[in-house]
Amino acid sequence: MALWNNLKKTTLGWIKGYASKIGGVTNSKDENHFTPQNAAYWIFVGLFFLCFAVNRFFYGNVQRTEHSDSLTQHFQISESTSIRNNVVYLKLGQLFGQLENFQQMERLESFLALHPEILDSVPSAVPLFREHYVLSSPYGKRYHPIHKISKKHFGVDLAAAKDTPIYATAAGRVTSIENNPKGHGLHVIISHAHGFQTLYGHMESVAVSEGENIGAHDFIGAVGSTGISTGPHLHYEIIKNGKRIDPTGSFNLKYEVYLKLKNL
Ligand SMILES: [Zn+2]
Repeated sequence: MALWNNLKKTTLGWIKGYASKIGGVTNSKDENHFTPQNAAYWIFVGLFFLCFAVNRFFYGNVQRTEHSDSLTQHFQISESTSIRNNVVYLKLGQLFGQLENFQQMERLESFLALHPEILDSVPSAVPLFREHYVLSSPYGKRYHPIHKISKKHFGVDLAAAKDTPIYATAAGRVTSIENNPKGHGLHVIISHAHGFQTLYGHMESVAVSEGENIGAHDFIGAVGSTGISTGPHLHYEIIKNGKRIDPTGSFNLKYEVYLKLKNL
């Protein structure tokens, strides 16, 4: 306290002395009257507080900058995490792009748990509800029931009741809706990311239109028996980079990743 009082005394004395000089009066003891030296004194005090306020203002700014720096640092950490995640996501997209068939999925599976949402853009489910269909004809060579010859079947046939709802197996864009009575009948082709396309054949009705963007598992139409068909069923194809591949490996893809994440 004594130190503070001494400091105050000295400082005030110095200010007063200096103020006296400025005021042109060297020996004034009268502090209670308004004199030029007192005016100078109060100007000094005013300036001191002004400086203090200005200093606080800038100091405050410095504090805010430091604070926002720490926020920025946090942001950068999360940003770098998201960049890292984006790298994984891009890598996954790249691998999906290179994928030739679903038998090559093993090298992707460890990454899928990090970005399961990528499966929304890749055919990774069955287009019908599980309880609604029976796999009546797999992909591959088979004896054609109508053509009576051994022929490769480029899709899978899912036998289901007429008007059973069909759902897109991934998000994408409806690129073609055609009716071919000598082939797949009324069918829809959807283009997805990473070089995938899906075809839904022998449909009874279509609920989407050409050029429409659709989400994963959106309702696209109903099972029928249009075109060359022996009964109501869905002929489902997955086309990868222009080649029709076996879709069987894609049926449980999303479901398995979901189970894996649920058990983590
Ligand atoms: Zn078929």
